[in-house]
Amino acid sequence: PSQGYYTRRGGVGESGDFITSPEISQVFGELIGIWYISEWMAMGKPNTFQLVELGPGRGTLTEDILRVFKQLTSVLSKCDVSVHLVEVSPKLSEIQAVMLTGGKVQPNPEDESAYMKGISKTGIPIFWYRDIQDVPPGYSFYLAHEFFDALPIHKFQQTEKGWREVLVDIDPEVPDQLRFVLSPSRTLATQNFIQPEETRDHVEVCPEAGVIVQRLASRIEKDGGAALVADYGHDGTKTDTFRGFRNHKLHDVLSAPGTADLTADVDFSYLRKMTQGKTATLGPIKQREFLKNMGIDLRLQVLLQNSSDTATREQLLHSYDMLMNPEKMGDCFNFFALLPHHRLVHPDKKEKPESKSPLPPVAGFNELLLK
Ligand code: SAH
Repeated sequence: PSQGYYTRRGGVGESGDFITSPEISQVFGELIGIWYISEWMAMGKPNTFQLVELGPGRGTLTEDILRVFKQLTSVLSKCDVSVHLVEVSPKLSEIQAVMLTGGKVQPNPEDESAYMKGISKTGIPIFWYRDIQDVPPGYSFYLAHEFFDALPIHKFQQTEKGWREVLVDIDPEVPDQLRFVLSPSRTLATQNFIQPEETRDHVEVCPEAGVIVQRLASRIEKDGGAALVADYGHDGTKTDTFRGFRNHKLHDVLSAPGTADLTADVDFSYLRKMTQGKTATLGPIKQREFLKNMGIDLRLQVLLQNSSDTATREQLLHSYDMLMNPEKMGDCFNFFALLPHHRLVHPDKKEKPESKSPLPPVAGFNELLLK
């Protein structure tokens, strides 16, 4: 809690330890903002919604989304929008406050479950919490970009004697050095976190991600809305992905703990299982497919047409390549969504299959068709 990476350092961005898509290009957040508006319209334009972001980093993604909401004021005019940020890092919440409100925030407001509140530069109320459970219930759109990969994992290995947990120990030979060891017998975690049907012989499980997804699914089932999860990950196939980054370079996870970003690929098959059928899921699909379906090529063309200087044009093309190139972020990042079942299938479809007009497709997960 006091010496952890996100509490002390949390270096998102070019000058930090790792760079993320919203820090690379404004287009990324703009397209995500459009995704929420598109879902809001498809769900019948409810008169209020909360945008709830888990792990907002520097606040850049929220800023880009709020700019889209501002540009589409005419569409959203009758809707009461509020922003709810779930952030544990005191340092990053300060950076977010400056970015989003210009630093005008009220700490520990008495009448709220939030630890801080303020008003965005575009006039939308923003609240900060440490835990998703503190966010008030209500119709909500959730966002988790590069959040789940930051949560702690358990590592397991299949041995001749059965499943064993990979643990961290102090190396008896070298002072101040940590090492990995295998548990001599089964642990509570091996008994509880490995799926009975598991076929891999090395597995990473993130129970905290499972608990949060269960909460998201329950909230969406009860109050409506949708969740968009974007992260690097796989659909239950990868085995050893735990690694560290410091100053944009790979870093030994056991050396100088608390000074490097530790990360493990998100197992989307596990997240899907943890929804327990309370919501429907879409994806994971590759970032380059999602952004293409969201119209990134059109947006790039408009930005290129509107910029006259060569440096800006080069920067636009470079950031497009970072996001879309399969060798860069295009293939390893995935998009995954939780949606109420009725968003994908008419509730009375079984009895009267022809009775209703087709539901609008979910943007990003379906090919973009220009009329
Ligand atoms: N979404 C941002 C930042 C990703 S970094 C981006 O894409 O740029 C991960 C974020 O999650 C940071 O803001 C970090 O402080 C936050 N975080 C890490 N563990 C958390 C936890 N247990 N609860 C809430 N936030 C957490």
